[in-house]
Amino acid sequence: MVISLNIGIIGIQGAISEHVHLMNKIFKINHINGKIFFIKNKFEIKSIDALIIPGGESTTISKFLLNFGIYDEILNRINENDLPIMGTCAGCVLLSNEIANETKEISLLKAMDMKVIRNAFGRQRESFENDIFINVLEKPFNAIFIRAPIIEKVWGKCDVISKIDNNIIMARQDKYLALSFHPELTNDLRIHEYFLEIIEDHLK
Ligand code: GLN
Repeated sequence: MVISLNIGIIGIQGAISEHVHLMNKIFKINHINGKIFFIKNKFEIKSIDALIIPGGESTTISKFLLNFGIYDEILNRINENDLPIMGTCAGCVLLSNEIANETKEISLLKAMDMKVIRNAFGRQRESFENDIFINVLEKPFNAIFIRAPIIEKVWGKCDVISKIDNNIIMARQDKYLALSFHPELTNDLRIHEYFLEIIEDHLK
């Protein structure tokens, strides 16, 4: 178990404080001397042990990352194979290699071998929740979807972890975890705990 840990979260929009709240709960339960804080500038990327990219609009988040030089710093750490990242919803889009309904406005981090479709559930189902089965968890997880993407396909070293109606909604590739839903909007800690395991494996 790691004793001290710094997790950064891209903090411009979306349900960010909920991620912070869940992660702090986990630190407390596990007696981890952990800190989770909003990334405000590119210099902070160098010192974090892990990163969370939350939901929001991937176009807006991508612009923010580019404009403040944060994008390049994250890419450096990805190239050094040195930064566990969890991306939820818009974060999932940013971690992908390709967008099916291509938008030129989004600069992808291309950390994961997957292709996503943005806002893929259609208007009637813009937001909904569902009990889903996740390969790495024993019991179902109540997943909340808000204008969620679908992972159309994965390849290479990217593994599917969960599907809904045969659509991929969660994937992992080494130290990267992508989810099309919002685990921070529940009180269920299991996905954040799973991400913590990934971080701990990486730091070993
Ligand atoms: N539709 C958003 C996008 O593609 C994601 C929505 C969300 O993060 N809740 O950027």
